[in-house]
Amino acid sequence: MKFKFSTLIVILTVISFVSCKQNKKKEEKDVHLHNDAVHTLKKDSKKNCKEVHWTHHQGEEGPANWKNLCDGFSDCGGKAQSPINIDTNHIVNGVESKPIKVQYARSKVSIVNNGHTVQFNVSKGNNAILDDKEYKLLQFHYHSPSEHMIDGQHFPLEVHFVHQHSDSDYAVIGVIFKEGSENVLLQKYLDFFPKSKGQYNSEEEIDLESLLPMDKSYYRYNGSLTTPPCSEVVNWYVLRTPITASKEQIEKFSSILKGNYRPVQPINDRVVTLYK
Ligand SMILES: [Zn+2]
Repeated sequence: MKFKFSTLIVILTVISFVSCKQNKKKEEKDVHLHNDAVHTLKKDSKKNCKEVHWTHHQGEEGPANWKNLCDGFSDCGGKAQSPINIDTNHIVNGVESKPIKVQYARSKVSIVNNGHTVQFNVSKGNNAILDDKEYKLLQFHYHSPSEHMIDGQHFPLEVHFVHQHSDSDYAVIGVIFKEGSENVLLQKYLDFFPKSKGQYNSEEEIDLESLLPMDKSYYRYNGSLTTPPCSEVVNWYVLRTPITASKEQIEKFSSILKGNYRPVQPINDRVVTLYK
């Protein structure tokens, strides 16, 4: 009996070691995925909230209730949330603002539908200098309709170029779309976008800089991620000049994105500046 008991202990120890190892592997993988998606910034909340399901649609898991879904999502009820309605009658001229300098190279991309958006992950080496600080471009992704409103109006699409300077310092360049001539990037890839969760890897290199309009005048304000955990760590640069996509492209892309926008949030005591 004594022998059997000690054997049992050994077996249990081995089992627990193996399962710990597997858990650790799973955790590392999750962290990697979250880094890609920039959905989770706080280390402690990552642990507690990573399995929490949320959606862009009305209901218990929808935007109005994100702040209650997990302790780590409490920022979603904060005072400096994004997106906002940009009221052009109440903006301040950014006399000390600096022009946006993008130093994007040609990059291979992987296109991921993560269930919340269609996201282009880019290779390293793409930077932007924003207010004298260097930010690394991590990824860009789309919302339909636009998340930011200008003078109370939504636009059909909005793309977010997500950059990071540090764990607590992000910058997102937002570009709105209006209906017009065909969009070159969408023309090339729209047929390959995964319609549900999935990934498409492109061998071709994209000229990332060509995705931004020539005129980089921008509205600037301090805000947050627009998806849980809604961390208030984002310097927003919403470009004033829209880019275009055709009616057909907008319809097709919108049917994949399925209304993945967060409604505008109170501006509270924040100021929006315009750089032109
Ligand atoms: Zn976004």
